[in-house]
Amino acid sequence: MGFDDVVGNARVKKILRLALQKNRVPNSLLFCGPKGVGEKKMAFVLARAINCERETTDACEQCSTCVAISGRRLPDVWEIGPEGQEIKIDQMRAMKQAAYLRPMVARKRVFIVDEAEKMNEPASNSLLKILEEPPLFSHIILLTSNPHLILSTIKSRCQVLQFTPVGKEDIRKLLVEKGYPEEKARIISLVVRGNMEEALDTDWEEIQNKREEAWAFFLSLLGERGSSAFLNTYAFAQRRLIREDFEKTLEILSSFCRDLMLLKERGEPALLLNPDYGTKLRALEEAASLEKMWDCLSQAERVISGLDKNLNLGLLVSSFYSLMGD
Ligand SMILES: [Zn+2]
Repeated sequence: MGFDDVVGNARVKKILRLALQKNRVPNSLLFCGPKGVGEKKMAFVLARAINCERETTDACEQCSTCVAISGRRLPDVWEIGPEGQEIKIDQMRAMKQAAYLRPMVARKRVFIVDEAEKMNEPASNSLLKILEEPPLFSHIILLTSNPHLILSTIKSRCQVLQFTPVGKEDIRKLLVEKGYPEEKARIISLVVRGNMEEALDTDWEEIQNKREEAWAFFLSLLGERGSSAFLNTYAFAQRRLIREDFEKTLEILSSFCRDLMLLKERGEPALLLNPDYGTKLRALEEAASLEKMWDCLSQAERVISGLDKNLNLGLLVSSFYSLMGD
């Protein structure tokens, strides 16, 4: 469970290893990136690597210090997160008190602040005071998926490391290593959009439902079921529809498009992303033109990037459908 066990983000690992090697790990770090890409895991590996009894640029995971940190039993390594909706000043005060004291057992104290954007104002100000006079024995690692909600004065005092979503292929590999069947691993990696934690924590039945939903959507686009089914599901029932759901549906829909294109071009069936839909897909070969599939793929991409930009969901849904309709 050293750095190599954190999937993806090779650039961040390289920077951290180099800092460890030079014995220059910054006292204040800010890890930002989309939720679930492994920032917290990386922070804990770093906490172990800083304190490891055997290695200097990684965590051995076997010495008593590494083991204690992994088991959250080392009093010098803290994880702080929101209590209710916020991270409060009392939490920061307690951290401040500890941060200036020499570590009890480890070489360095490490404070990992999860969802740092949830610090309320007094808590942020209190943290700022610590960052202005960084304690010698302590490292503070802030984690956030919303860096724009963090005070710029805090950001400027931290070394900022940007995490990127984990690639589908990396997620698939990891799931297979963890014993997931190949086919399942491939499908999960399609749906989670780079969120490693979600990949490991996902409910298979829920994914199957989502796939059925996406299949119905796909059929409606091909004119097999007409627009009413689509509009009922997506345009009019939006209140219960969250963005993430629609994004997943589009991701699966794209995979159906790619599969159908593969079949139409007499590609290798073993490469199907949805082998269990093979028969159903073959039945559509005649009905769908390659051109239509390309359209569908590019529109899905466009909508997914629109979702990221927080555009109005209803508008995106309707425009996707109207662009795809004949
Ligand atoms: Zn160790």
